[in-house]
Amino acid sequence: MLKDKVAIITGGTRGIGFETAKLFLQNNATVILFGSKKETVDNALQELKKENPNFPVEGYHPNLSNFEDIKKTIDNINKKHGKIDILINNAGITSSTPIDKYSVEDFEKIININLTAMFRTIKAVLPHMKNNNGGVILNTSSMVTKNGQPSGVGYPTSKFAVNGLTISLSRELGPHHIRVNAVAPGVTDTDMVESLPKNMIDNIISQIPMKEIGEPSFVAKAFLFLASDQAHYITGEILHVDGGCIN
Ligand code: NAD
Repeated sequence: MLKDKVAIITGGTRGIGFETAKLFLQNNATVILFGSKKETVDNALQELKKENPNFPVEGYHPNLSNFEDIKKTIDNINKKHGKIDILINNAGITSSTPIDKYSVEDFEKIININLTAMFRTIKAVLPHMKNNNGGVILNTSSMVTKNGQPSGVGYPTSKFAVNGLTISLSRELGPHHIRVNAVAPGVTDTDMVESLPKNMIDNIISQIPMKEIGEPSFVAKAFLFLASDQAHYITGEILHVDGGCIN
């Protein structure tokens, strides 16, 4: 489904991003994954190469808090591959700290990674997509954008903003043939969920109509569809992949 496409995936070293990288490679894309450290990037590349040594995959670890670093990395990727067709903004962190214990620094940190880093990578990739007469930008939102979250206010705040960024940019970039969509996973079995208290996870699962925790592959398939030409006329959508969860 992605033959000849060049895709960048942030947070591609594990969880949802890693699964998406694998699925994109299986669908003949060239994949460039971003991670936070050289070591985790190397491990992810090694694991993907184990599945298929011929997978066209490479990885970098630009500092997502630094626009110049991201821009330099993305300019080099564009130079090497001649274009960038797809950007998946997936890196993210979470927190369930109650507001009384939530510092301003905690809040700024989560907004910085979940939202501002997304803006930085989009800014860096846009000139290349415009030069190439189009592209696809996909952002990872969350089911918390249905009803917020009872504790850890920075996370849902960042993800509501991701939806705002997605919908607004779809309108601004439509004339450039750049589609902008988001995928909003429900509770998905990754390291991120393992970091939440068990009673919180059990409580969430009991309220999922499908009574099943999500797999990273479910989210990866939604990204594949939205990245492909099958979704040619779809932009400004927030696609929920959450078993019908409303919490
Ligand atoms: P994960 O913790 O397994 O992966 C997070 C990824 O983000 C990792 O690759 C990590 O390297 C990267 N990352 C985190 N901080 C970074 C930083 N400072 N610089 C660079 N990279 C950084 O979690 P996941 O569940 O795979 O999360 C992926 C996305 O899915 C996130 O945006 C998350 O908010 C979203 N999401 C997850 C769930 C869930 O239940 N797992 C639900 C809804 C949304």
